[in-house]
Amino acid sequence: MSARRPVVGGNFKCNGDFAFIKTHTEVLKTIPKNNVEVYVAPSAIHLKTLADNLKGTHIEVAAQNVYYEKPGAWTGELNVEMLLDCGLKTVIIGHSERRRIMGETNEQSAKKAARAISLGMTVAFCIGETLEERNAGKVDEVNFAQLEALRAVLKEADWKNVIIAYEPVWSIGTGVVASPEQAQEVHASIRKWLGEKVSKAVADATRIQYGGSVNAANCAALGKCPDIDGFLVGGASLKPEFVQIVTTLG
Ligand code: PGA
Repeated sequence: MSARRPVVGGNFKCNGDFAFIKTHTEVLKTIPKNNVEVYVAPSAIHLKTLADNLKGTHIEVAAQNVYYEKPGAWTGELNVEMLLDCGLKTVIIGHSERRRIMGETNEQSAKKAARAISLGMTVAFCIGETLEERNAGKVDEVNFAQLEALRAVLKEADWKNVIIAYEPVWSIGTGVVASPEQAQEVHASIRKWLGEKVSKAVADATRIQYGGSVNAANCAALGKCPDIDGFLVGGASLKPEFVQIVTTLG
């Protein structure tokens, strides 16, 4: 049994309106207070409303992205100061949709993470390979390159503010979940990498979430794997099923 506290995130992506945020708040409030840490990440426009709605509960609100520059002339972006002003402590960085669709590079993702951490935030740093990369035997190579960009901009002490989210791209939003064996194998290699490239202490302490088609039916088996410390949930976080996922892991 690992000493790491499980953590489950809900990534609403580009979904929902204010009416949904209102009704979903009531769903989220039914999440039991167990040993699982929980954050939910609505779209930027809903951050403040959801944070206000969940004030005083154990459910944290997180952002889905942030820019790496100080406040200034960056039209369309949000900076870390704005997230802090909103009362947020956590931000998702480097989701595969940002990397692949918005063209965010490993270095840009790492810079975002470094700035957020330097101002005290926790970062859920997403990594993962595509199906082509998996089929070409490049799982470790791809994940390690994404992690190496992060390692290059962090000090060892910064890693206490990092959650790694391993999200194989072929599993995100596809209904094709990684098998517990497939996920555990990658989580174990990520932890080994941390031990070799950062430190044994960081490898032992860092939570590694699995993400990709997690639902109430498949989360129990995944959650039993020794190196899986929780989930980053997309589609199912928009449904009452999210409560079951947290309950199952707790
Ligand atoms: P999914 O998304 O659960 O809908 O597959 C996971 C994610 O992208 O974080």
